Amino acid sequence: MESIPNQLPAGRDSSCSPNSKQDLQSYSGPTLKPNQVSETSLYGIPIVSLVIDGQERLCLAQISNTLLKNYSYNEIHNRRVALGITCVQCTPVQLEILRRAGAMPISSRRCGMITKREAERLCKSFLGAHSPPKLPENFAFDVSHECAWGSRGNFIPARYNSSRAKCIKCSFCNMYFSPNKFIFHSHRTPESKYTQPDAANFNSWRRHLKLTDKNSPDDVSHAWEDVKAMFNGGSRKRTLPIGGSDRSSSLSTQVPRGQ
Ligand SMILES: [Zn+2]
Repeated sequence: MESIPNQLPAGRDSSCSPNSKQDLQSYSGPTLKPNQVSETSLYGIPIVSLVIDGQERLCLAQISNTLLKNYSYNEIHNRRVALGITCVQCTPVQLEILRRAGAMPISSRRCGMITKREAERLCKSFLGAHSPPKLPENFAFDVSHECAWGSRGNFIPARYNSSRAKCIKCSFCNMYFSPNKFIFHSHRTPESKYTQPDAANFNSWRRHLKLTDKNSPDDVSHAWEDVKAMFNGGSRKRTLPIGGSDRSSSLSTQVPRGQ
């Protein structure tokens, strides 16, 4: 790691000149300075953070090499994509800063950066994979969807122990459904308006099922995000063809042939 220290161009002055410029730029407000380096704790491990576009971001490579070192690059990549987490690629200057901060080896040529919140979700999906987030006992999320006539129910995280667990109790008929099934379950009420459900994509409940209260407190909406991230990795490939077969036939309009 220390074997090629002189290979880096502009190693002499990069530590002071860019910073003085940024001081001037950010003097006007309390905003985070661009490329400001600090350290944050993730699962008790110190991780380097860098301010990019006004947002503190963590080095995915460092997280992969520490907290997630037991998982392969592909596993981490696939999980990240499944969780809908987008990496911001750092510039050569930022890469250099990260190397100097010890976030990554000198040999690394690129590094994706994710927000702390995303890093927590990613790590949780590996390290705390099947344990629901800490919630009060008997806690339920008040959730709604607007597919077809829409419905509303209580999502009970304590019951959500597999992707097909019947963990949602419909508020109208008190029956229990798995998330995948619940978005195809609706009740016609005087206020409800019909929305044509999209294709029978059985992983799409995460898009359609929302907290009924759009102004839920942060801890509730974060817990909801965490719950939605559960069982989201490997289940996608498996559930599409199997789960889709029984429902897609009833949903797709069957045009009678001839007469
Ligand atoms: Zn119902």
